[in-house]
Amino acid sequence: MSFQDELVELRRALHREPEIGLDLPRTQEKVLAALDGLPLEITTGERLSSVTAVLRGGRPGPAVLLRADMDALPVHEKTDVPYRSRFDGRMHACGHDLHTAMLVGAARLLSERRADLAGDVVLMFQPGEEGQEGARLMIEEGVLDAAGARPVAAYGMHVFSTTIPRGLFLTKGGPVLAAADTLTVTVRGRGGHGSSPHRALDPIPAACEIVTALQTHVTRGYDVFDPVVVTVGSFHAGTTDNVIPDEAVFEATVRTFSTGSRDRIREGLVRLARGIGEAHGLTVDCEFGLGYPVTVNDDAEAEFAARTVREALGEDRYFPLPTPATGSEDFSYVLEQVPGAFLVVGACPPGRDPATAPANHSAAAEFDDAILSDGATLLSELAIRRLARG
Ligand SMILES: [Zn+2]
Ligand SMILES: [Zn+2]
Repeated sequence: MSFQDELVELRRALHREPEIGLDLPRTQEKVLAALDGLPLEITTGERLSSVTAVLRGGRPGPAVLLRADMDALPVHEKTDVPYRSRFDGRMHACGHDLHTAMLVGAARLLSERRADLAGDVVLMFQPGEEGQEGARLMIEEGVLDAAGARPVAAYGMHVFSTTIPRGLFLTKGGPVLAAADTLTVTVRGRGGHGSSPHRALDPIPAACEIVTALQTHVTRGYDVFDPVVVTVGSFHAGTTDNVIPDEAVFEATVRTFSTGSRDRIREGLVRLARGIGEAHGLTVDCEFGLGYPVTVNDDAEAEFAARTVREALGEDRYFPLPTPATGSEDFSYVLEQVPGAFLVVGACPPGRDPATAPANHSAAAEFDDAILSDGATLLSELAIRRLARG
């Protein structure tokens, strides 16, 4: 069986049995089986079913880290692919099954080239990317020190079922993905009869005013070239038309692309909500929940990754990422501590138009596994070439 066919087989086996969150026992088992026999130092996680594998190069040198996430989503798969999920309500709808197979492929390619490697490679197989902070937990359990010395560089990538033409790799220096935080606002008043608002303290108009004021705050308070997205995605108050409720509650996702804006908006949104509530004689509780930080590529590492795509896969396989994307990633925790680059890869299957194909997280999302060997080659070349530079 060819290298590509082996990776396709592994990816489809992972796809058939998706697991969610931090505990992925079947996935971990498949990864360990696929790495079996390779000259790796393997450890597994304590609080999560991670796999960390260290390949010691034949020559001395620093360490680099390659990362793949392995978790699926609580989505009921609605595709017709023959390797469709066997589990109701669970699907590899974000393509992490491809990332896992690519990193296994890189482990094989690097093992073959072990004698030439001028340093060590840390392979980070991570559960819990979809909101469970798996990368942060792996850092707490020592993945960044797995080879001894701290890695000099770290690389990861993400497949997209839509938007990007198939087989095209993109990246850029600086921010590539947003920080994603959550604002929860509770406006408290005093309920009463809908016919007599003067005898109550109505929280609904004030809460509505806060929602619209959030948008004005964004456009007036932040540099248009350092964007901020605030979306109120849930708003709940009351039970019927003629009863004024005691409180109104809404939640917003807050996306920022710099730590400066992230810190500032945290304070700004809370001040605004409290101030409007106070103006109406209401009390306002705000909770600002911190999600994943901004994913920031090192300029030199992004440039190196772009060059590596062009040299290893071909000039036409690279395109500069024009803008950051508004999604978020917990690889950001790695890049806060190690300079590196995160790339995005087009994996829209042939016969679908990337402009209209169902997106990642959709129950109808499909990813083309023809790109697996290229992904594995790229990861291994990033490690080999980065180590050669010392
Ligand atoms: Zn996802
Ligand atoms: Zn993902």
